[in-house]
Amino acid sequence: MTTHPDELAGLTGLFSDQELQIAASVRALCAAEVEPHVARWFEQGEPDDPRGLMRKLGDLGLLGMHLQGYGCAGTSATEYGLACLELEACDSGLRSMVSVQGSLAMYAIWRWASEEEKQRWLPGMAAGEIIGCFGLTEPDHGSDPAAMRTRARRDGDDWILDGRKMWITNGSLAGVAVIWAQTDEGIRGFAVPTDTAGFTANTIHHKLSLRASVTSELVLDGVRVPGSAAFPEVRGLRGPLSCLSEARYGIVWGAMGAARTAIECAQRYATEREQFGRPIGGFQLTQQKLADMTVEYVKGVLLAVHLGRMKDAGSLRPEQVSIGKLNNVREAIDICRTARTILGANGISLEYPVIRHANNLESVLTYEGTVEMHTLILGQKLTGQDAFR
Ligand SMILES: Cc1cc2nc3c(=O)[nH]c(=O)nc-3n(C[C@H](O)[C@H](O)[C@H](O)COP(=O)(O)OP(=O)(O)OC[C@H]3O[C@@H](n4cnc5c(N)ncnc54)[C@H](O)[C@@H]3O)c2cc1C
Repeated sequence: MTTHPDELAGLTGLFSDQELQIAASVRALCAAEVEPHVARWFEQGEPDDPRGLMRKLGDLGLLGMHLQGYGCAGTSATEYGLACLELEACDSGLRSMVSVQGSLAMYAIWRWASEEEKQRWLPGMAAGEIIGCFGLTEPDHGSDPAAMRTRARRDGDDWILDGRKMWITNGSLAGVAVIWAQTDEGIRGFAVPTDTAGFTANTIHHKLSLRASVTSELVLDGVRVPGSAAFPEVRGLRGPLSCLSEARYGIVWGAMGAARTAIECAQRYATEREQFGRPIGGFQLTQQKLADMTVEYVKGVLLAVHLGRMKDAGSLRPEQVSIGKLNNVREAIDICRTARTILGANGISLEYPVIRHANNLESVLTYEGTVEMHTLILGQKLTGQDAFR
């Protein structure tokens, strides 16, 4: 008889009935709508019907679920975290779809746009009828977005945007793009309808990671938007960073979902696969791998719960999110790679979820602040010295 890592560590006891119910309903949606197809989506490089999938995620109340009003579910941060864990247990691309919609695009509008723009976009986005994307990264400016070249200039009451954004999740699907651009007043955010003349989205192909997720280049060539599209108050990197902190929080949980799936798969495989006349799970070296993976998974979930409870209490700080993002993604990718070795040659096949998760986590390791950026954030707090430049 085997014991599940959650049971071994008593993890379910950390959550209320309502929290567990939300996790179960997300798990059920994944099992019905995504799991049977996701390996094929990964292979073909896109989901069959991403717009239909977004509407199903909206029907379950998962889009902008921790936001209040405008058709959003208004759940706790811990409930949102558990949803991210279940989504990413299925595929990091699925969790990315929800993170970008809810924590980046919707959060940016919810937090920073005018009331008129909130009313215009948020209810449709919560329902999954309007897809949003978040354009911060550029071809030449990733970790250092302050140096971005995309520019917005005033023309009467309007703004005109020119520039390029790169690696933008959901870019080719989006009806609204949150674009961050240099202005004479510093960096400002804009909610840009993607059917505006001069706006183009080109899907990026040949990715070997997050293949079940759409990633795009955005080209803005004299894109004219009314003054109301500009976020009225926020200036500088404070705007985009506030959104990134939200999305990073979801990743803290999500990464442990990918890790859980890899452990479950390796655990099952270790009991079924026989070599030298016995299950490979009977060898001490395999047991050590499973034990080490489980210990890191349990620590990662405990960290996520700790950060989630702080977020619900309103006390979570960005550098604390960095601790979680740095640790949990780094450990999750390590867990997936170790699980891969337990599966031997089968570990490199899409017949099993492990290599898909390991490859996906390569993107998760880089986006929303690379390992190096989060290390420098913590280093800065620990020493008082800024080592970014
Ligand atoms: C699948 C995918 C989806 C994405 N979705 C989005 C999205 O929706 N919206 C969006 O805006 N962006 C998105 N991104 C972009 C992502 O946020 C960037 O790739 C990330 O910020 C890193 O930027 P970069 O790739 O330009 O790498 P660079 O910034 O060029 O970094 C390259 C390497 O140098 C290191 N480095 C840089 N500066 C320093 C330093 N000071 N000290 C030490 N090391 C340093 C980095 O850590 C990294 O290892 C996505 C990326 C991927 C892969």
